[in-house]
Amino acid sequence: MPFSRADYDQYMVPNYAPAAIVPVRGAGSRVWDQAGKEYIDFGGGIAVNSLGHCHPELVAALTEQGNKLWHISNVFTNEPALALAKTLVEHTFAERVFFCNSGAEANEAALKLARRASIEKYGERKNKVLSALNSFHGRTFFTVSVGGQPKYSDGFGPKPAGIEHFKYNDLASLEALIDDDTACVIIEPIQGEGGVTPATQEFLQGVRALCDKFNALLIFDEVQSGNGRTGSLYAYMDFGVVPDILSTAKGLGGGFPIGAMLTTEKVAKHLVAGTHGTTYGGNPLATAVAGTAISIITRPETLSGVKAKSERIRAGLQAIADKYPVVAEIRGMGLLIGVQLKAEYAGRSRDVLNAAAEEGVLVLAAGPDVVRFAPSLVISDDEIDAGLARVEKAFARLVA
Ligand SMILES: *Cc1c(COP(=O)(O)O)cnc(C)c1O
Repeated sequence: MPFSRADYDQYMVPNYAPAAIVPVRGAGSRVWDQAGKEYIDFGGGIAVNSLGHCHPELVAALTEQGNKLWHISNVFTNEPALALAKTLVEHTFAERVFFCNSGAEANEAALKLARRASIEKYGERKNKVLSALNSFHGRTFFTVSVGGQPKYSDGFGPKPAGIEHFKYNDLASLEALIDDDTACVIIEPIQGEGGVTPATQEFLQGVRALCDKFNALLIFDEVQSGNGRTGSLYAYMDFGVVPDILSTAKGLGGGFPIGAMLTTEKVAKHLVAGTHGTTYGGNPLATAVAGTAISIITRPETLSGVKAKSERIRAGLQAIADKYPVVAEIRGMGLLIGVQLKAEYAGRSRDVLNAAAEEGVLVLAAGPDVVRFAPSLVISDDEIDAGLARVEKAFARLVA
């Protein structure tokens, strides 16, 4: 083998702690490593591979566009970007779309837009950003400061000002902070990285009402919860609460890097030409792949399949929980599922990950105490059953 995990430490910045195995190939919800060992993929590249690995229609879209036009810059518009924007507008509350390359960039655009729109409309003082404790919004310095996890934002010097944090699912805590100077409230309808915690409907309805009362814009960060993961195209549809701005990325490109910010015409008009931008954002290669991904995700059988697959996985996980006294709670929505470990196993989500990989199944952590599942939306029942049998063996190891 030409390279191994040891080369990571030799050549790369040590900001990740990658696993010992090096995957080389994927197909559907299966992945193989350098040694040819097979894994069932319940992690989906952190909720990114929404249609599994090397989906034939995505490969075809990539290949076709790859032979046509890769990049042209935003000095020009391009057909795949226009087509994807139109599709997103037709399927959501949004009237305008901005493309970028990642979740952090989508949130950066959302936050900059919210502040600019608020300041232009109500004056310089209206710039306060309110965000939930334990939230995750990306790693640029603005988004990581807005995120409610000091372990990610501390240690880089002075932070952008005007950011305050409330308790998730606690309306009184938001009510204590929101006022006429609030530009926006940003919230994940399901906290992903923070431990797979869905918002309650009453909470999101209350947040919407408070935003309306104080003329603050409501941003839903659907980077992880969006693009079919809950069984609706976006999670806001499940809650029946409509934001002013929605950011997304991860599953949108099915593995090809792309992010998007969706909003209304009335809010969008504040980002006039020259106020924001990106070199790659909306490039034809990314938007051609994402356009195909969204066309597959929005098929009724894909979205209804999410519900059936979610139930199958949750039932399997419940059976494992009944057998091994490790699991405190199974929660989440659709195919974003979190397994909270019991207090005796606190801090051991990584051990589960490692045991699972040894048994031939890839799962994720969401913090030290939660094992996260974010498989392909089109994972087959056979792949689910094979993966669950391996997950059971991993949990058996934990109690052994
Ligand atoms: C992953 C994630 C981000 C950051 O996305 P990147 O593509 O890593 O920049 C932002 N918000 C949420 C909710 C996420 O899950």
